[in-house]
Amino acid sequence: MNTPRLVTTAAELRAATTELLNKAAAGNPSRVPTLALVPTMGALHEGHASLMGAARADNDVVTASVFVNPLQFDDPADLERYPRTLDADLELLGRAGVDLVFAPSEEEMYPGGAPLVRVSAGAMGTRWEGAVRPGHFDGVLTVVAKLFHLAAPAVPARFRAYFGQKDAQQVALIRRMVADLSFNVEVVGVPIVRAADGLAESSRNRFLDAGQRQAALVLSRALQLLKDRAAAGEPLDLPAAVELVSAQPGVELDYFEVVDPQTLEPLPGDAGQPLAGPALALLAARVGPVRLIDNALLP
Ligand code: AMP
Repeated sequence: MNTPRLVTTAAELRAATTELLNKAAAGNPSRVPTLALVPTMGALHEGHASLMGAARADNDVVTASVFVNPLQFDDPADLERYPRTLDADLELLGRAGVDLVFAPSEEEMYPGGAPLVRVSAGAMGTRWEGAVRPGHFDGVLTVVAKLFHLAAPAVPARFRAYFGQKDAQQVALIRRMVADLSFNVEVVGVPIVRAADGLAESSRNRFLDAGQRQAALVLSRALQLLKDRAAAGEPLDLPAAVELVSAQPGVELDYFEVVDPQTLEPLPGDAGQPLAGPALALLAARVGPVRLIDNALLP
């Protein structure tokens, strides 16, 4: 296991990134090295490990960031209880072969306090998760924009950033931000990692008791139903999948829709016809103390 280098300031991050990129380019000046950034909020699990693995496989230098971003929490209690497990995180990052870990303090990220100027996620940030968490995606895009600037290569290199498809709305918005605001970074989406029972891995799953976890499995079952129908070329019959979730005691469904994967606009109902093109099934539900989100790309 390698031990990743831990840096906590922007200056250290830049110096260490430059050193590692120069080392990667040494001996072959015509080859442009690649740098990957994997932003996280820590409390790392197998889902994060898969992002690190994808980044490690394709890049010379891999940086992970660990920062619980207060801007994206609309509920102070949620921010307060968000798990912070840096020692265990560093161990996982070491096993995953990450080179650099950027774990800044709040003061380092927001030296003047909460920023007055922020990135707006626009209308796409006000629906689905944005509807129940006002300002959440503005906070996400603001910190991701900052991380793109802070982690970007200062010497010639290709720059890639890795995000999980688990947070489908987040990755769709980051792709739009990069396109709309001309960030010089390639966004890579990584498939959802699920536990053996089907539940999508999440840092919040630790707050579920055994019964709640069992109840939560209806979410991945309902998505699998849609995936199976799409794969078989059958009409999706979303209402039947919604009914499956609604009938599960202990699960309070918030939304369950089939949307355009890029714009996240709802697609019209299937009217008895199979899917005509790519689609994304998106859902959110409250189970016990946590709000869970999950999704499936169709077909
Ligand atoms: P977080 O630390 O929860 O902000 O997540 C950091 C990154 O890990 C985000 O890009 C998430 O989408 C990704 N991620 C979280 N859970 C999973 C999962 N189960 N599968 C794939 N990626 C995930």
